[in-house]
Amino acid sequence: MFWTEEFTEQIKERFHKKIADDSPLIIRDEKTLSGRVHVGSLRGIVLHGIIAQVLAEQHVKSIFMYELNDNDPMDGLPINIDQEKFAPHMGKPLFAVPPVHEGEDNFTTGFGEELKLAVNPMGLPIEWYHLRPLYLAGKFNEVIREALDGAARIREIYQEVSGGGKPDDWFPLNVICPRCGKIGTTKVTAWDGNEVTYECKKHYVKWAEGCGHKGTMSPFDGNATLPWKPEWAAKWKVLGVDIEGGGKDHYAAGGSREVAAKISEEIFHYPAPFDVAYEFFNFQGKKMSASKGLGASAKEVADLLPPKILKFLMIRKEPRQPIDFDPEGKTIPNLFDEYDRCADHYFNRHAEPFVGYARPFALAQIDPLKEPEDLWEMRFQSLSFVVQMPHLDIETEAEKLKGKALTEAEKIALHERASYVKKWIDTLAPAEYKFVIQDTTPDGLDLNDKQKKALHELGKRLGDLKEWSGETVHDKIHRTKEEFELTPKEIFQPLYRIFINRTSGPQVGWFLSTLDQQKVADMLIASSS
Ligand SMILES: [Zn+2]
Repeated sequence: MFWTEEFTEQIKERFHKKIADDSPLIIRDEKTLSGRVHVGSLRGIVLHGIIAQVLAEQHVKSIFMYELNDNDPMDGLPINIDQEKFAPHMGKPLFAVPPVHEGEDNFTTGFGEELKLAVNPMGLPIEWYHLRPLYLAGKFNEVIREALDGAARIREIYQEVSGGGKPDDWFPLNVICPRCGKIGTTKVTAWDGNEVTYECKKHYVKWAEGCGHKGTMSPFDGNATLPWKPEWAAKWKVLGVDIEGGGKDHYAAGGSREVAAKISEEIFHYPAPFDVAYEFFNFQGKKMSASKGLGASAKEVADLLPPKILKFLMIRKEPRQPIDFDPEGKTIPNLFDEYDRCADHYFNRHAEPFVGYARPFALAQIDPLKEPEDLWEMRFQSLSFVVQMPHLDIETEAEKLKGKALTEAEKIALHERASYVKKWIDTLAPAEYKFVIQDTTPDGLDLNDKQKKALHELGKRLGDLKEWSGETVHDKIHRTKEEFELTPKEIFQPLYRIFINRTSGPQVGWFLSTLDQQKVADMLIASSS
């Protein structure tokens, strides 16, 4: 069983009544839009989305609600924005901070739209929503009242669970200061059942300065928000959340998840949702982070991969395993290879297909209702070679490798893949993926006598070939290898060394057939003399 089914089995058991009533299960996740969204956030989005996708496959209704949080205080500035312009807005709720680009509603708009551009092509069933309108519409009024009434118990929960106590005059609420508009700087000190007493404190937090205003006001209808741990729990109740996981950082003993779960159960009398804790997405891009001045955004990484392969990246490992992603290393070529390997299992091209490979391939497809089409796809290694050889035509070489004409769908897939491969080769690929055809024998080519004799003979045979094709070249190499009793490594390595000065490369028969026949013969004879 693949991990997605392990989770949906547990989900169906816990919510069997709701499912029998035909009510949709509510799945939720969120991101605060305080800057460009980091690629790491895609793991949570895809994880929740794939659970919704698998439930749908099993005819269980669900709604995956993804929150674009525009209500949190601005407590830090992304370094690639105008610091002087935005510094005075520190401490305000994000929806009240001006937009980064003209024409946008507020500070969060562009970041939310960019995230959607990265996520939507993966075809996950997502309902995007903003938090601010829910507060404004009074949806949080009841939980705000419960939190204020239960303030003493919430303070105890913080103390019991995390050991970090709150002072006796601390209330789980931040009002928006009616004078300066900041929310991060206000402290509520009393609650009489109708109104809260508050002060906008000059030095309440390090990252923003309050105006000193004091007063009483209603905490309802958008005037205030809950601090994040009680708010996390409050959202579960307000939206009726059944399923919500979180990143590993929230799951330390005494961490935020535990605090939120306890507040949910004791203060809001709402059961904590079905939980999935997931490991980190470790990003190791040096060039990307250096040029942008930040970690890589979801959009930048999404641009490096076809949507189905981005989706595949996020689901092929079970949630408790970290995902390591180095766009300047072997991650991307390995990812394409792994996707192809999984396709082989899905389409039974293997004697013993393995569900752990076949399943993530199927799940990664963009339209889950459509049976995946069995396409011939060019391997990353071969494609990376073709895109670097201006004298080669991609479709022609693909047909040679496939052994027959490509279907229309295969042509589309080929050109899509080629565009990603080319982009990667041109920008991020390490030197070992750059192919340079050699004109002379490389230095330090160390051949034993048997290899020399074999390569010399191979040069003559290839020079005499009547038909110059991948198959005929492959055949000659194979026969020569057998005749001279060489191991595959003993013959392939020098071939790659002689022609591209590397120890490995694309499928050798086809690769040599893309070069000039006479040149191949001459180089082999010269190198083995
Ligand atoms: Zn103020």
